[in-house]
Amino acid sequence: MTRRKIVAISGSGRTGSTLLSLLLSQHKSILNLGQLRDLWSAWSVDAPCTCGHRLGRCPVYSVVIPEAFGTNPADGVHEMRRSMKAFFRDAADVRDWGATDAVGSLAARHTGFITQLTAVLDALQRVTGVNDFVDASKAPEMALALGLTDETDLRVLNLVRDPRAIAVSWHKRRGQAFAGWEFSRVWAKRQQALSRWSKTLGARFMEVRYEEFATDARATIERIQAWAGLASTAGTFASKDRAVISWSRQHLYPPANERILAERAALVTIAPAEEWRDRRHWFQHTLALLATHPDGMRYARTVRPSGDRT
Ligand SMILES: [Zn+2]
Repeated sequence: MTRRKIVAISGSGRTGSTLLSLLLSQHKSILNLGQLRDLWSAWSVDAPCTCGHRLGRCPVYSVVIPEAFGTNPADGVHEMRRSMKAFFRDAADVRDWGATDAVGSLAARHTGFITQLTAVLDALQRVTGVNDFVDASKAPEMALALGLTDETDLRVLNLVRDPRAIAVSWHKRRGQAFAGWEFSRVWAKRQQALSRWSKTLGARFMEVRYEEFATDARATIERIQAWAGLASTAGTFASKDRAVISWSRQHLYPPANERILAERAALVTIAPAEEWRDRRHWFQHTLALLATHPDGMRYARTVRPSGDRT
């Protein structure tokens, strides 16, 4: 099997990660895995794929899943959900993901899960002929797992957004008053894990702020491609904020951004969302800054289009 490269988009939801994964995977040498961590649950309900088929009939996953899990994959996929959750819990208890001993022992405790994940990635390479992947799972534990599979060159892309914006966005979606608190705690935990891990990852780690991506998507995509060594997709952009998206090679499944999956827009305009700044959202802003203190404050600043930060 040819060595594969995986760019794992890590960080939080409500950061434009679905769109980012689409823009990074427009070249035929790159496959968008979507939120791979959700593939097992999507498969078990035969969720719709953006190719127009249900996953059970999707030309990619209807071949990949039986190849990786055997001819009756329902049990294997069910077990994969369980073993992935167990790995995530255990990984969260390992403080330093750069410590070879601790990570080696984590991998040894979860051999079944890592072997099965390797089998899925191998099958994806055989079926699609592609060796470069983008994953939009966002949980850093998934990035860690991908990095433990055989023959994988992992790059971790920390896509990070002002936690106040994320709190308002989740609050709107979920409606509960304290949604902002819950998701801000997830934000803080993930940022802490990524910050510690980045010291070991070195050049294989990159931080991209949502605000930079939304302000100049074209330049941001070019920077990511240069960092990760991915094929350039300069032709995708009509201007710095307008992109033409081809869906012909996309196989995305819920619960990735449902609006994007439903619209399957061919022409997208990328612009920063600013409505969350409205003062009437003060309660969510306060929750977000309290729940992410002190890290959140670093990201609660304006990014200027030039890239200068105030
Ligand atoms: Zn499909």
